[in-house]
Amino acid sequence: MQLLRGLYQIGGDLNGVTWCGVDAGFEDANSYAIAGPEGIVLIDCGNGETLPQLFENMRYWGLDPDTIRACFLTHPHWDHAGGAHLLQARGVRLYAQRNTAEAVAAGDERCCGFCYHKTFMSCVVDVPLEDGERVAVGGLDIEVLHLPGHTQGCTAYLFNHEGRRVVACGDVIGTLLCGDFGWSGSIDFDKKVYIESLRRFARVDTDVMLSGHGLSLFHRPRRRVEQVLNSALMQWR
Ligand SMILES: [Zn+2]
Repeated sequence: MQLLRGLYQIGGDLNGVTWCGVDAGFEDANSYAIAGPEGIVLIDCGNGETLPQLFENMRYWGLDPDTIRACFLTHPHWDHAGGAHLLQARGVRLYAQRNTAEAVAAGDERCCGFCYHKTFMSCVVDVPLEDGERVAVGGLDIEVLHLPGHTQGCTAYLFNHEGRRVVACGDVIGTLLCGDFGWSGSIDFDKKVYIESLRRFARVDTDVMLSGHGLSLFHRPRRRVEQVLNSALMQWR
């Protein structure tokens, strides 16, 4: 599904881009392909079982999966990063914030495979990232925004595309029908840390928000983050 010129949602079962055997589920997170001037960059890659569907969607839009240069992981949960080991085996370089990289390397409960009765296949992230770092890949300039809380490694990625400031936020906020915070069941979930991340995120102005599940936002996405911060402040006193 094309979201902007050169930017596509290629996976995500909540809005039917991929399908995992149940309708409108959380088994397969949203994954995105950005056709940069020097190759394709992915953000998240789904659970691994849907990778053929992701590739099929890419080919429909004229994107060759063999030209994927890099995949940036928003956090280590199976529905977002379960396919990382498969991409790496194809020569794709994996990028993730250090805490996410550690969880993905361990493949332990932080990856939540058990929630889906699946085994998370561990792998070693090629490029561990730190908050505030800027990465040049595929002709894109991607800024790393570490927003822990839903997991300790949660990361948003900011970049300019087609004259717009775009953020891919993973599960930092949910955007299905209204703003909401991400699932609170992760073993490394932390309310206090999450609220601080939301305070920080609510000060970041963007034009387009690519969510971890559900809908993307094309009009004042920051307002949705403020809404989530408000909910968290009221519900997590
Ligand atoms: Zn998650």
